[in-house]
Amino acid sequence: MPQYTPPVRDTRFILEHVVGLEKHSNLPGFAQASADVVDAVLEEGGKFVAEVLFPLNQTGDAEGCTRHDDGSVTTPAGFKEAYSQFVEAGWGTLSAPEQFGGQGMPHVVATAFQEYMISANMAFAMYPGLTHGAIAALLAKGSPEQQARYVPNLVSGRWGGTMNLTEPQCGTDLGLIRTKAEPQADGSYSITGTKIFISSGEHDLTENIIHLVLAKTPGAPDSSKGISLFVVPKFLVNDDGSLGARNAVSCGSIEHKMGIHANATCVMNYDGATGWLVGEEMKGLAAMFIMMNAARLGVGLQGLGVAEIAYQNAVQYAKDRRQGRALTGAKDPEEKADPLFVHPDVRRMLMDAKATIEGLRALCLWGALLVDLEHGAETEEERQTAADLIGLLTPVIKGYGTDKGYEIATNAQQVYGGHGYIVEWGMEQYVRDARIAMIYEGTNGVQAMDLVGRKLPQNGGRAVQAFFKLVAEEAAVAKSDEALADLAEKLEKALGQLQAATMWFVANGMQDPNQVGAGAYPYMHLMGIVALGLMWLRMAKAANAELAAGGEDKAFLEAKLVTARYFADRVMPEAGALRRQIEGGSEAMMALAPEQFVAG
Ligand SMILES: Cc1cc2nc3c(=O)[nH]c(=O)nc-3n(C[C@H](O)[C@H](O)[C@H](O)COP(=O)(O)OP(=O)(O)OC[C@H]3O[C@@H](n4cnc5c(N)ncnc54)[C@H](O)[C@@H]3O)c2cc1C
Repeated sequence: MPQYTPPVRDTRFILEHVVGLEKHSNLPGFAQASADVVDAVLEEGGKFVAEVLFPLNQTGDAEGCTRHDDGSVTTPAGFKEAYSQFVEAGWGTLSAPEQFGGQGMPHVVATAFQEYMISANMAFAMYPGLTHGAIAALLAKGSPEQQARYVPNLVSGRWGGTMNLTEPQCGTDLGLIRTKAEPQADGSYSITGTKIFISSGEHDLTENIIHLVLAKTPGAPDSSKGISLFVVPKFLVNDDGSLGARNAVSCGSIEHKMGIHANATCVMNYDGATGWLVGEEMKGLAAMFIMMNAARLGVGLQGLGVAEIAYQNAVQYAKDRRQGRALTGAKDPEEKADPLFVHPDVRRMLMDAKATIEGLRALCLWGALLVDLEHGAETEEERQTAADLIGLLTPVIKGYGTDKGYEIATNAQQVYGGHGYIVEWGMEQYVRDARIAMIYEGTNGVQAMDLVGRKLPQNGGRAVQAFFKLVAEEAAVAKSDEALADLAEKLEKALGQLQAATMWFVANGMQDPNQVGAGAYPYMHLMGIVALGLMWLRMAKAANAELAAGGEDKAFLEAKLVTARYFADRVMPEAGALRRQIEGGSEAMMALAPEQFVAG
């Protein structure tokens, strides 16, 4: 049976030293996020997810969701009760605006809690996760009337939200959408079409579900330029806020899938359903991107959350399980064999996981701070820089974060040997659950293209230049500190590889866009390594300072320093190989005809 302990100490360390919560007390919401309040959120939130959500993770996976003949869907046993507790305790309202019933806390604090929720039960966490995306889109693009009608109940969790993009013929290429929206005399639209793979599309957790749907209006270009966004509630909402008639939207089936069984992935049929335009006609993609950007950071967090729970259990297993002897001689001679922990190859997997998880946690929380700064920083310049940086890093957090999340889950399973493959140990569920995060919200290949094809050249490279400058400056300062010099030099080296790869795209991408396509994926990983390197530099700096100041938790702080060294020695060197892959270009990749691929 897996166990879960929320990593409160590490979160606290990062919030204090990497994010610097206290330094930002002038930002909206930060004043009320005092150390005591944040501690209470982490402690109580961690307790809630460990005691209420975690026990439902394996049972929810085994039972899955059930669609009934009338199109209704029930979630696994215990989910409805757990969701009521979640709503009652207000866990979904942490960072929502106060004017809509939220607690107005910084996004970064809510993100810390969300990581715990994902570790405890990723399938459960997706229900409120999708709702947050819907809130973000309505707040950014909805009319005041739409906001007043839908947002308070979405914030409280009484209603759920979904995002409906995908159709059978249309996944990555949203220009292929066929769902139609016909204007009606009363200003509403009649929505007709089929959406597939809709997470949380139908369920029994909330009294209403607010679908945000992409569709095309008559005469609109049959491309991504012709897409509009609509809000389509499951139950129409009367002017007094009460629920009205059932809308013509229903769940046709639920998918049988590899993981996240407890989250209902639905085929949604819109049969002349009543919907209302959100924002401007034919500007739907821009509106949906607001939702998708929030969701992409949330999916990156899924990589981290699943990696953490898988890793924690692998650590325990490596302590308990005895096989073979240490290469340097028996560690426990009184026993017949030593624990797995003595084997360097087992440690390789665990240290890779530890270094990546703690780095990713810092990156996700710093990313969340950038979202707070983007909206709330005092000067336009600060808001702009934060927006640039988080825009650049969003595909990295999503793509690199979930690739690593899956790799860590698989390595954690590997630590268990054959037992990792056996259901009751729980590890294979983490591998299955982690896999989807690499696919949805734009596949990781598409994230890489977003990074290289869109984010790098945007505004003449302003964002990537800001990122280079930040890393270079922090590394330069750290080099003069003897305790940090080695780490800082290795980070500088990795940054040099990233800069060289960027210049290679500039020199080669114009004549042949396939060069960009071929190098995008290794580039996303290269930037991930540099971003995590920056996080490790900050963590090492903070750990040194704490130790020098006589910090209480010596073992924790020393472990930070060792792990930073591991990252610098064992992970950062990958940067050179990734650069060489990029410079290997696209020629051989694109040369074969499809019929030459299968060698039989
Ligand atoms: C469990 C689950 C839940 C989901 N939840 C939702 C949801 O709530 N709402 C929703 O709208 N959708 C949802 N999806 C859909 C998901 O977002 C899509 O499956 C995903 O975006 C990929 O689209 P596709 O499956 O059609 O693959 P395709 O677009 O057909 O892609 C196939 C392959 O080709 C690659 N590819 C395609 N185009 C390009 C390109 N231009 N450049 C480089 N490579 C490319 C892709 O990376 C991928 O490897 C969900 C899917 C699943 C499985």
